[in-house]
Amino acid sequence: MSVEIHCNGLAKTYPGGVEAVRPLDLRLEAGQTTALVGPSGCGKSTLLRMMAGLEDPSFGSLTIGGAPAAETLARAGLAVVFQDPSLLPWRTVRQNIELALDLARKPRKGSDIAQLIHLVGLDGFADTRPAALSGGMRQRAAMARALSTNPDLLLMDEPFGAVDELTRAQLAADLPGIWEARGTTTVLVTHSVTEAVTLSDRIVVLSPRPATVVADLAIDLPRPRPSNLKALDAFQFHVDATFAALSQGVAKTLPKAAQ
Ligand code: ADP
Ligand code: MG
Repeated sequence: MSVEIHCNGLAKTYPGGVEAVRPLDLRLEAGQTTALVGPSGCGKSTLLRMMAGLEDPSFGSLTIGGAPAAETLARAGLAVVFQDPSLLPWRTVRQNIELALDLARKPRKGSDIAQLIHLVGLDGFADTRPAALSGGMRQRAAMARALSTNPDLLLMDEPFGAVDELTRAQLAADLPGIWEARGTTTVLVTHSVTEAVTLSDRIVVLSPRPATVVADLAIDLPRPRPSNLKALDAFQFHVDATFAALSQGVAKTLPKAAQ
């Protein structure tokens, strides 16, 4: 099953008065991968955290799979990957994944776990504890854990921040196949435009804080992505369009004198 997300007038002002997200309407299609792109501090994480049920909206409504978010989140499989991988330190990579499966009441299948560990490039580290892994490896373990439960909704907040360039490219090549095959609705927060174009079906460009939608771009590149993706004119076209929308969003919020 995959779920769609509807935000209607969704907004967040933190206690103390910081307006992070201005009333925002957004419909994310079931089974699609959407990237949320915007300048640092614009409210991306706040928006994602509301979708994950980790932050209460100040205004508006959020429905996931046609029901109030809290209801769906409780029954639909949700997996969240943060920039900072939250692995349990006293459990090995495999045991962290097993725990996620137990919590989701899904069977522990050794071969599936081994396949995921292989896919994220952690062969040989299944029985290693997080402290003995590099930051990038921990992040890959967190990714394997998130995917292990076969979630309906996968929310990722700058998941590749701590991962080196090469691994990043490898993950970007391998991971979409997993969530696409399963019809997972995926939301990816990133400040990397090339990553957004590489991974997503759609890019929602947000303005500087408070976040509003400045552009909504369909990324109609072939799936699975070809190995020469970055050499395609269409790829460059989408990268340019996303950058243009980002700077347009920034320009709009500058005082007139500064433009
Ligand atoms: P982004 O992920 O785009 O960098 P965030 O959503 O983390 O942005 O933050 C948006 C704004 O809200 C920032 O100004 C940040 O300082 C503020 N903010 C984030 N979390 C909190 C919080 N828990 N309490 C108060 N202000 C917050
Ligand atoms: Mg953030």
